[in-house]
Amino acid sequence: MKITVFGTGYVGLVQAATLAELGHDVMCVDINHAKINQLNDGIIPFFEPGLDQLVERNKLAHRLSFSLNPKECIEFADILFIAVGTPSYEDGSADLSAIETVAKTIGNYINGYKLIINKSTVPVGTVDLVKNTILETLAENASSYVQAMNSNDKLASILNRDKIEFDVISNPEFLKEGTAVIDSLHPERIIIGSNSKKALSIMRKLYHSFTKKGIPILEMDVRSAELTKYAANCMLATKISFINEMARLAELLGADIDAIKAGIASDSRIGPSFIDAGCGYGGSCFPKDIQCLINKAKEHQFFPHLLTAIEAVNSEQKTLLVDRVLNYYGHDISGKHFAIWGLSFKPETDDIRNSPSLTVINSICKLGATCTAFDPVAITNSKQYFANNQQVTFAESKELALIDADALIICTDWQQFYEINFDILKTSLTEPVIFDGRNLFSLADAIAQNITYISIGRKPVY
Ligand code: NAD
Repeated sequence: MKITVFGTGYVGLVQAATLAELGHDVMCVDINHAKINQLNDGIIPFFEPGLDQLVERNKLAHRLSFSLNPKECIEFADILFIAVGTPSYEDGSADLSAIETVAKTIGNYINGYKLIINKSTVPVGTVDLVKNTILETLAENASSYVQAMNSNDKLASILNRDKIEFDVISNPEFLKEGTAVIDSLHPERIIIGSNSKKALSIMRKLYHSFTKKGIPILEMDVRSAELTKYAANCMLATKISFINEMARLAELLGADIDAIKAGIASDSRIGPSFIDAGCGYGGSCFPKDIQCLINKAKEHQFFPHLLTAIEAVNSEQKTLLVDRVLNYYGHDISGKHFAIWGLSFKPETDDIRNSPSLTVINSICKLGATCTAFDPVAITNSKQYFANNQQVTFAESKELALIDADALIICTDWQQFYEINFDILKTSLTEPVIFDGRNLFSLADAIAQNITYISIGRKPVY
């Protein structure tokens, strides 16, 4: 099948490469010239394990190409995916301007039946918005043609446009940054929201390779599909905020969150995933999607107590490490220097959007401290983010970051951080102190190493 994907970000590029891998012919279009130039030069603009090989293989097989020309891409394909960003406005509502721009572009260049598939995470009602925007664009173009009409060619063009048919459907994405390629090639389920028989039949063909392997397609109405994506993200964020609240209680009551986790995870109704206590969730999805759903609920005069609490717990959790640091140093950290391990919001990604590390670093800098940070892949993005902050420097290894620091603060649970050399840590830091936002080490190890170890939901070791 011939497919165009709008947006070459984490979702668009992975989806495009996956569809090409399934044997389809795929073009990607973006408005970001630098990204498209990089992709044409064989460079992946962000870090995602396995994506470089997947893109390269399909480029070489001539199933995947990149363009800055939306007209060419729309005319090429029968299926158009929208995978552009949907950030938040200040009030939490979704900024749908990129979606609307794509819809207008489709309206301008549509040249026959197109199935338009929305993959971006968007509030309920956005499929209708895309449909109406395309129709309005078609109508505007037709009327401007009519006003300027002075030839039979233009009349024929309008009539031709009137015959144009299209469907807009919802097909939300559930991949996770860090395992996006595996998630996309082996999805647990595919959600399709549509009431068009034609669209559903095309979608079943498009994803035939998946259904053949037993991966279920769940067909539903458009609004339910749109809301399913928010429900999934809010459920996951709920689990994280829940365990973090339990961790706070565990500390106050002298209990241990690791033991509690083991105790509840063995209940099959609860399970082990997403119940690790830590310094809060970040990323481009959970915070924005929860805010967006709260905003949507309020539009309908519904006040969602639980969603509001999830975000409130998380905001507090992101400041917890700094509170611990302040308590330890008697509320004055001016002139102190810290090593920071981990900048990305989770391991295996270079995405630092809403990362707890940013809250930690911004807060300690405001309080007069400096830091040297290390992350295996997120330093380039972080250098841009902290470009105007002289108090933040970066190290090329986790060991180099420790040199002459007063303490180590751990913000991300990268695998390599578990493999710590306590001897190097003790000789590099001015005092062996770790503030661990990801509970990487056992309390027994900390006691045996004779270090100060302050983690989340567990007794501090002094
Ligand atoms: P991103 O910011 O990485 O990429 C978005 C891309 O869209 C950018 O390259 C941008 O230049 C491009 N774009 C903007 N306007 C365009 C236009 N008019 N035409 C063509 N391209 C245009 O975003 P992302 O992380 O890939 O997320 C995309 C959507 O998918 C969001 O709605 C997000 O919530 C959702 N989502 C993200 C994830 C994730 O883990 N990142 C997972 C599931 C769903």
